[in-house]
Amino acid sequence: MKELAILGSTGSVGEQTLAIVEAFPDRFRAVALAAGRNVEKLAGQVERFRPELVSVAEPGSADALRTRLGAAAADVRIEVGSAGLEAVATHSADLVVAALVGAVGLEPTLAAIRAGRPIALANKEVMVMAGALVNREAEVYGVDIIPVDSEHSAIFQALAGQRGGDVARLILTCSGGPFRDWPADRIASATVEEALNHPNWDMGAKITIDSASLMNKGLEVIEARWLFDVSPDQVDVVVHPQSIVHSLVEYCDTSVLAQLGLPDMRVPIAVALAHPERLDVDLPRMDLAAIGRLDFEAPDVKRFPCLALAYEALRGSEAAPAVLNAANEVSVAAFLEGRIPFPLIAETNARVLRQHLDADAGAVVKDLAQVRRADAWARTQARERIAGGLAA
Ligand code: MG
Repeated sequence: MKELAILGSTGSVGEQTLAIVEAFPDRFRAVALAAGRNVEKLAGQVERFRPELVSVAEPGSADALRTRLGAAAADVRIEVGSAGLEAVATHSADLVVAALVGAVGLEPTLAAIRAGRPIALANKEVMVMAGALVNREAEVYGVDIIPVDSEHSAIFQALAGQRGGDVARLILTCSGGPFRDWPADRIASATVEEALNHPNWDMGAKITIDSASLMNKGLEVIEARWLFDVSPDQVDVVVHPQSIVHSLVEYCDTSVLAQLGLPDMRVPIAVALAHPERLDVDLPRMDLAAIGRLDFEAPDVKRFPCLALAYEALRGSEAAPAVLNAANEVSVAAFLEGRIPFPLIAETNARVLRQHLDADAGAVVKDLAQVRRADAWARTQARERIAGGLAA
């Protein structure tokens, strides 16, 4: 029986993780759940899975949860806020599923690592913001980090049984997003609705916009560089509109191993939960003859400059990816609120990143406080540039 602590249990990955727990009750048990403010959904999870511990974002949500659970509230410990996230992250468990979205997942994931818990990592900002630091801590505490992001899960699977020193290149596939074949002038006037219309994956709004700008792929390049400890030059991206090949590893003898499957997040989640075993899941099977053809093309960094920014950040400094990520969160929010046109996402990100690199090229990240400072600085810069019409 593998006991799971889930950070972000009411989110998309959290819910799909619990669906697997429910389908394999003799293999998994959810012992600790951390959610935000979705009390109704969390209450349903408490009733179904009977965890020992849950955490919510704020005291009001804890009160609402107790009221909603009634007498059953006595059977579960309820914690709140950042202390609650840390309690779930360090609760006695065999695997911590890090499925929070955004920077909020950084501290609890590090707390889980310092408690020696193996991590199934879906929260890509953890590696994007603090990959160097997370790797150093994981090494000190002897903790394995198993990726849940579909591309990184594919690479993780294609690396199994091979020697790291034989890897020539990691090749991340990218659907290309909704604007893949749009000319630059049409992208320039893209609406929020058009950007949210992702062809293959059903995801949250922020990551869907990142998929349209290719910033998501850029963040995944950064994630891959740290997860697999390769140089930025060893991470490539190829556009593959069908999203059937989830990523590939090229070896020094030119042989390339790929992982294929229908685009369904339950597969990489199942891989991470069961590793090194496999689960006999009840999901649709891939029919290559029905799919017929698989296409590949080079990404166009002229139309999608956010992808190139990720490489620029990786080569610039250990703090630069956190700066890029923070600027992007602000610019994407501004786009979603209709305050800036689509190309200004990349423009804002580029200006904030280069301002950081001009001042602090080669900075080494020593602790989390430094990551937080870089993040806060970038948010302020991005907000000011957007408010000022990017005049600076
Ligand atoms: Mg992905």
